[in-house]
Amino acid sequence: MNLNLVSGDTPEQDAAVRVLRAKAELRAALDPARRAGRTIGLVPTMGYLHEGHLSLLRAARAECDVVVMSLFVNPTQFGPGEDLDRYPRDEESDLRLAGEAGVDFVFAPSVAEVYPEGFSSRIEVGGGLTEVLDGDRSRRGPEHFRGVTTIVGKLFNIVGPDIAYFGQKDAQQAAVVRQMVRDLDFPLRIEVLPTVREPDGLAMSSRNAYLEPADRERAAALSRALAAVAREAEAGSLQRGLEAARRELAAAGIEPEYLEARDAERLEQVQECNGRPVLVAVAARVGAARLIDNVLIEP
Ligand code: AMP
Repeated sequence: MNLNLVSGDTPEQDAAVRVLRAKAELRAALDPARRAGRTIGLVPTMGYLHEGHLSLLRAARAECDVVVMSLFVNPTQFGPGEDLDRYPRDEESDLRLAGEAGVDFVFAPSVAEVYPEGFSSRIEVGGGLTEVLDGDRSRRGPEHFRGVTTIVGKLFNIVGPDIAYFGQKDAQQAAVVRQMVRDLDFPLRIEVLPTVREPDGLAMSSRNAYLEPADRERAAALSRALAAVAREAEAGSLQRGLEAARRELAAAGIEPEYLEARDAERLEQVQECNGRPVLVAVAARVGAARLIDNVLIEP
């Protein structure tokens, strides 16, 4: 077995994290815990860890006996012309941070380990969830979510977690994964945790690394726009909120790809708040980065 041990520099960080590259090795490593009835938490990531990822790891550490983080930049969720080749990567730093957050196992497979030659199956969630917002064919398209559900379904089968952790930052992804888990009877619970933000409100994202200083400053308009929607919606008008948000974005020179209010679970468009949680989601290109953000408006 190829067990790569990485430990922190100080005694407090000395909890070693085991890095596994092969599915069979990970299964074998998890077997004793599973047989002993210990709970397993899974945090899927594409790496380049920031505080958003760490909040998921800490929640998993607090709630589960064994914490697995996957570290895999999944090529099948990137469209042609998207940023797969330049997606930021820093495995050394990720392993250190994972160790400090108390992760027990990092599963960091190669592309060939996940998609060996002859791989030809897909998991697809239909019913409209994957064809709106980012799934609109003029944007990333439903193929993006097919890539996500296929890799997440595979990770669920490889790891066999009791709880899997996702971020509200990718709200549509979380809704699609929840639907997949319901439809296909994956025996696990999904937990979705709040978006972690920079002090000026910008949602943390690995892709923020693409932002030049001036664009980084402009990017804060996204969260200000969403805060305006939440404020106006609470005062009684979602539509007025969306108008205020458009003005906020325009003032920063940002033309959104979309800024829409939708039912938070079904992702159907809504005009006003109607007693169910409403998701207001935005996507925009700011300089070299395509950013997404959202706010959940509870009834
Ligand atoms: P990624 O590495 O971007 O695929 O993200 C891995 C997980 O971290 C996903 O469930 C994301 O929704 C979550 N995540 C990313 N950014 C944040 C954030 N700012 N706050 C909370 N969760 C996040």
